[in-house]
Amino acid sequence: MSKRSAVISRWIIVAACVPMLAGCREDAKTKTRVLVLGCDGMDPKLVQKLMSEGRLPNFSKLAAQGGFWPLTTSIPPQSPVAWSNFITGADPGVHGIFDFIHRDPSHQAEPYFSTNRVVELEHKAPWHLGDYQLPRSTTKNELLRRGRPFWDYLDEAGIPVQMYHLPANYPPTPSSHGHAACLAGMGVPDALGNQGTFEHFTSEPRPETKAAEGMRLRIRRDPTTGVAIARLQGPANELQPSASPMTLDIQIYPDKKNNVAKLVYVNKGVLSDETVELVLDVGEWSEWSDVFFLKTPVGPSFGTMVRFYLQSVRPDIELLVTPLNFIPTRPEIQFSEPAHFVEDIGSAIGPFYTQGFAEQFNARKQDLINDEEYHVQADQVLNDSMRMLDYALDRFTTGLLFFYFSSTDLQAHIYWWDNNDKHPVRTPENAKKYNRLIEDLYTKIDAVLGRCMERMGPDAPIVVMSDHGFANFRRCFGLNTWLKQQGYLSVATDMYVDADWTQTKAYGLGLNGLYLNLRGREKDGIVDPNQRDALLKEIEKGLLAVRDPQDGHQVIRRVYRTDECYHGSETRNAPDLIVGYDRGYRASWNTCLGKMDSEIVFDNNQAWSADHCIAHDLVPGILVSNRKINVADPALIDIAPTLLSIFNQSRPATMSGRPLITP
Ligand SMILES: [Zn+2]
Repeated sequence: MSKRSAVISRWIIVAACVPMLAGCREDAKTKTRVLVLGCDGMDPKLVQKLMSEGRLPNFSKLAAQGGFWPLTTSIPPQSPVAWSNFITGADPGVHGIFDFIHRDPSHQAEPYFSTNRVVELEHKAPWHLGDYQLPRSTTKNELLRRGRPFWDYLDEAGIPVQMYHLPANYPPTPSSHGHAACLAGMGVPDALGNQGTFEHFTSEPRPETKAAEGMRLRIRRDPTTGVAIARLQGPANELQPSASPMTLDIQIYPDKKNNVAKLVYVNKGVLSDETVELVLDVGEWSEWSDVFFLKTPVGPSFGTMVRFYLQSVRPDIELLVTPLNFIPTRPEIQFSEPAHFVEDIGSAIGPFYTQGFAEQFNARKQDLINDEEYHVQADQVLNDSMRMLDYALDRFTTGLLFFYFSSTDLQAHIYWWDNNDKHPVRTPENAKKYNRLIEDLYTKIDAVLGRCMERMGPDAPIVVMSDHGFANFRRCFGLNTWLKQQGYLSVATDMYVDADWTQTKAYGLGLNGLYLNLRGREKDGIVDPNQRDALLKEIEKGLLAVRDPQDGHQVIRRVYRTDECYHGSETRNAPDLIVGYDRGYRASWNTCLGKMDSEIVFDNNQAWSADHCIAHDLVPGILVSNRKINVADPALIDIAPTLLSIFNQSRPATMSGRPLITP
C-alpha cells in the first residue's frame, strides 16, 4: 500500500504576508506597540527556579529591565474567572463569571456552562417540506460575561488591538469602531456544541457511550462487503424533525502485517463527491482532514475538520478522532471579530485547532491515550500557536497585540508534580520524568519570548503574564458528601435525580461554588434570608475544621464569602461561598456536577493530577515586564487599566484595578 496515495492536502501559505508588512514596520517604530503574552497557568515558583538555573535567559533579560512579580489571581483561580478579571479590570461582582459551571436558581440548581449559552429569542413553528423542516425560530448565542472589556476603550480611541485565542470571550464582543480584532479561544465549542467531544473507535466488543467529554464507539463490519466502518457522529441535523445527528462512514482497511491502515470516506457534495483517502502508520496522526456532513441529499453541507490518530490495527483496530473542529477558512459559526479575522489567519497559516480546549485531555483522563500520546498531540497545539504567533507578529504594526498559550495550563494539568508525594497514577521516577516536560515547555516559551523581544525591539513594552499558578492534585474532597454528612443536603446519589429540596439547606456545584438553598431566590428554597449569615458562618467553620483522615492535614485553607470579596451588582448571582482548598486538594469530580462520592476525602486516581482551583493566594500567576511597576502586589485586575494607561487612556470607573506603569 503506497503511503498517502491520495491524501487530500491543503496548501499552507505561511510566508505570503511577510514582505507586504515588512515595509510598514519601519513607520510603526514611532508609534506605541505593546505585546502581551498570556501563558495560562504559568507558575511563578517554577519560573523563578528555572530563571535562577539560567534556563530562562529571555525571562531573566526581560525581568532585569523591569521586573518579575507574582500576580494576584482571581477568587476562585479558575481560568474563565481569572481571564474575565483580566478583560474587565474588575472582580466577578462586575463580570459575573464565578466558575466554569453556574446554576439557574429559578430552575432550582439547574447547571449551565458559565461563559455563553444559546437562547431562543423568538419561537416559531418550523415549516415542513416532505421529510424535512425549515427552522424559523430566532436564536442568539450569548456571551454571559458582563462588564466592558478594556479593548473597547482602545477601539474607541482608534488604537488597533489584535487578540489571538483570547479566553472567556466567546462569542467575541463586536468592535464598534473597527479597530479591535479577536480570535476567541477558551469557550469556543467544537462542531457538536461541546467543549471537546473526541470519538474513539475500536473493533473490540465493548459497550458504546456517548458523552460530551467523548464518545466510545464500535467499529462495525459492512454486512455486504465486510469492510470495517467507523461511523463518525456529526452535529444534529436541524433540517430533520428528529434533529438526529448527521453521520459519516469512514472505511478502514487495515494492513496488519505492515502496521498500517488506509482510511477512506466520501465528502458528499451537491455537484460532485470528493473521496478522501488517508494512509496512516500505527502511532501516526493525520494532518487536518475536511469532513462534510450533508443535511439533505441535495445539500447544504456542514463543514468540519478532524485529525485521525491510528492507535492499533492488531489484534483490534483502534482509531481516535479529534473533536470536530471548524474549518478556519469557512467557519460555520462566528468565533472571531471581525468574522473574516479567522478566515484571514486560516488562509495564511493553514488549518489549526479552533475549539477552545484543543488539547485532548478528555481522552487522556479516560486512559484512551497514554502520557506519550498526549504529549505528541499537545505539542501539535503548541506548534499551531507558534505558527500563529509568527503570523501575528508579521502583521503587527501598531497598538496592542495579545497572544495566548494554552499549553502551560493543559500540559501542566497532566504532567505537573513538584514534590515527593505519592502520584495518583505514576511511579516516583515517572512523576519526576514527566514533570520535566513542564520545565522543557517553559524553556520553549522562553525561546518564543526571545523571538518576540527581537521582533519588538528595545522600546516596546512587553508583558508576559499568567492567570494563575499550579499545584499537585493528590486528594479529592467530596463537598456534597460532606454537606450531606453534616445534615445540610438531603440526597441519595445525585442532586439532579433524587435531592429532597425541602430538607436541603446548601449544595455544592462547580469547582469551588457552595450555594445556600435560599427562600425567595432558589425555586424550592427553604433557608430564611434572616438565617443566611449565621448559616454561612456555621458552614465556613465546619469546612475549615475538615481534616484528611489519612494524615490529619487541613483540607480547606480558606472559605470566601462572596458578599465580602466581590464588588458589583453581579454578586447576586454568585455562589454564597467559594471553597479555597489547600495545595494537594481539590473538589472531587462528582462535586463539580452535583453528584455524591462514597467518601469525603479520598485519592484522586486520574491522570489529571495537577490543578489550581484552590485558595487563590496559594496559586498566584506571573507578571514579567521590561517596564518597572508602581506597586509591590500587582493583581490580574490591574493589567487592564495598565494597558489603557500605556495608551494614555484613563481608568474607567468600572475598573477596580490600578494602573501599574506610569507612561
Ligand atoms: Zn487549568
